[in-house]
Amino acid sequence: MIDPEILEELEGWEDDADDADDDDDDDEAGIDYDGGTVSDAVGSAGQGSAGRGALVLVGTPIGNLGDLSPRAVDVLSAADVIYCEDTRHSRKLLTHAGISGVRLRSLHQHNEVDRIDEVIASVARGRTVAVVSDAGMPGISDPGSRVVAAVAAAGLTISVIPGPSAGLAALVASGLPTERFCFEGFLPRSGKERRSRLTTVAEESRTTVLYEAPGRLAATLADLARECGDDREIAVARELTKLHEEIWRGTVAGAASRASSMPVRGEVVIVLAGAPEVEMDDVADGPLIEALEVRLAAGERTRGAVDEVAAEFGIARRRVYDLALAARNDDPTPGVPPGGTR
Ligand code: SAM
Repeated sequence: MIDPEILEELEGWEDDADDADDDDDDDEAGIDYDGGTVSDAVGSAGQGSAGRGALVLVGTPIGNLGDLSPRAVDVLSAADVIYCEDTRHSRKLLTHAGISGVRLRSLHQHNEVDRIDEVIASVARGRTVAVVSDAGMPGISDPGSRVVAAVAAAGLTISVIPGPSAGLAALVASGLPTERFCFEGFLPRSGKERRSRLTTVAEESRTTVLYEAPGRLAATLADLARECGDDREIAVARELTKLHEEIWRGTVAGAASRASSMPVRGEVVIVLAGAPEVEMDDVADGPLIEALEVRLAAGERTRGAVDEVAAEFGIARRRVYDLALAARNDDPTPGVPPGGTR
């Protein structure tokens, strides 16, 4: 159910597009909101087809304006409204791309929830609503995901014009494994939450991508060195796509020492190698058999005991299962019954 006040406001846009909120850029408003959608630009996947509204997430450059895609330009030019973190900032990007006359509305971390109803109302009325952030992909350490969740829950069309994202750019250029990775965004700034997240990151076996502010980089790298050990591999990507782009690769301790010895300027992404997987050979058979026997003697089924021991020691289930079978064949007494009823 769309709030009638919001509908009224939308009507107001049509009647007088200059009548905007204080924080909106209304200088160049005045487009015809009945003027159709941007189906051609949006919709290779059939989304945003003519007459149907759509929420379109549009990726924008993380530094180099040349990274704004032609499809992003098409969609932003023809959108009925563009929601953005900072209207002045986005206006500059649009001007650079030769786009004028599109209404801008603010959507930032403090008002995202308040904007949800009007976005839903707008899409429901057949409009094309674009969402951009200051840089990169909206929703990635930037506003957008709550609006997307609400629009999806309302059963309306969502489309995306993919663009640069600092985390992915840093990951692929890091030289660290990319087959499996996780994104942690910004770590909590302090306290128990930070400590617990640092522990999780240190134990993670996949490559981890982190965002950090330049002024906090040295402290975060020092924390990572303490949690992960000095020798873990790391890459620090700075000012990607910009004039002073730099990708430093080495150990965590090396990165921490470098960051503490000179002021870090610009934007940075940390890409941390995963924790080494426990090698099967690192754990002898004895402790595994012992752990199995304790569980089986306590009445656990073989399958459950094998799962638990594999998880506890961080090794392949197959190996523990083979040990359980061997133990069963060698000696039926320690708790693995020969009949295999467990
Ligand atoms: N939505 C953006 C994206 O998709 O990458 C991220 C926005 S987040 C608020 C900003 C952070 O992204 C910065 O603090 C930095 O960690 C990273 N970042 C953005 N642009 C960057 C660049 N050109 N080089 C390195 N890191 C960048």
